Amino acid sequence: LAGWDIHSHLAPAGASLPIEDLNRPQALVQRVETLRLDGAIVSIPPPLYDGSGSERRPWATEVNDGLEQVISDEPTLRGFAYLPIDKVEVSLAEISRRERAPWVGFTIAAATASRTLDDPELEPVWQALDDRNAFVFVHPGASPDSRLHRFYLENLLGNPTEIALAAACLIFAGILLRYPGITFCLAHGGGATPGLVGRWEQGWRTARPGIPELAAAPLDAVRFFYADSVVHDPRALELAIQVFGEERILLGTDWPFPMGIAEPTAPSTVLEGLEPELSFAANASQCLQLA
Ligand SMILES: [Zn+2]
Repeated sequence: LAGWDIHSHLAPAGASLPIEDLNRPQALVQRVETLRLDGAIVSIPPPLYDGSGSERRPWATEVNDGLEQVISDEPTLRGFAYLPIDKVEVSLAEISRRERAPWVGFTIAAATASRTLDDPELEPVWQALDDRNAFVFVHPGASPDSRLHRFYLENLLGNPTEIALAAACLIFAGILLRYPGITFCLAHGGGATPGLVGRWEQGWRTARPGIPELAAAPLDAVRFFYADSVVHDPRALELAIQVFGEERILLGTDWPFPMGIAEPTAPSTVLEGLEPELSFAANASQCLQLA
């Protein structure tokens, strides 16, 4: 399983969260070794997307500094720096601050309660990321839908919907094609995207109200995305492979969360039954140019 896991989480130094392994980088280093991976790319968990920083030291700077401290001395760990999409100036400063190791890209929330990714205010952020040929990992933040409070639906239904919302905004606002330097990777196999993109295609083909002229049909545009492999159902993984393309699926595990994949190499996991030569971990090394 040589290659990288692009979706795992650690807490920054100084932050304490109820899931203990988030505060134990050594547990992740050990896991990388056990799985015989080349390494893992970590990002902060969504509960830390919001916090009280100050004008001189914004929250995103604080959590990125804290994560840098945790992973800098670990040769098998790299990081995606967090960009707060609600704060354009802070995001721009973080983009120029996190250009070198241990950083290999950025992570953003799929949406916030007040902003979706088609917001024109974000154009300077896309431009700065495009200039740097940046890798951007799109991860669910929180669902603002109060109907999802029961049955853990904020996660089970809200998360995949948030990712589909992000994908739709990037496609219909033309961002995906206008900034070809950015490599967008959708968490959780693209969430609901693979199951919905046919419907988006139909809406575009029949010129439904509000849908603009597009440089590419949604079914073609969607192939510019990368997606991770955290879907928990081999049939969903197969659909993701068909929609995005085989080389566009990157290994993710969402470690150490219970909603993650504990053993990506175990025969009981979603990798069962797939072509043995499919290597999502190797795709990740290649896409991120990691040795
Ligand atoms: Zn995650």
